[in-house]
Amino acid sequence: MNKINICGMEFTIKYFDKESEVDHDGCKPLVGQIVYTKNEIRLLKSTRSKTAINQTLWHEILHGIIEFEHIDDLSEYNIDRMANALNTIADIRGNK
Ligand SMILES: [Zn+2]
Repeated sequence: MNKINICGMEFTIKYFDKESEVDHDGCKPLVGQIVYTKNEIRLLKSTRSKTAINQTLWHEILHGIIEFEHIDDLSEYNIDRMANALNTIADIRGNK
């Protein structure tokens, strides 16, 4: 799956081999980023496990939901916990 619809907005999922390439602005090393201006979710692939990549994808999807639903009181820590829980329920990218 290379595209995902979040709250009616289509995002393209792009994979990168280096943390320095994930940040759209090139400022800091990241494992994942959602870029609203380009409708992109950018993920570090390299040697990470499928589980780790999927958890990061859930994390970025949750950022999208929080943005589009105007939820303003979820910390990064709680987003990570929710991403972890969702990852145990659904394998979002199938067997890729
Ligand atoms: Zn985050």
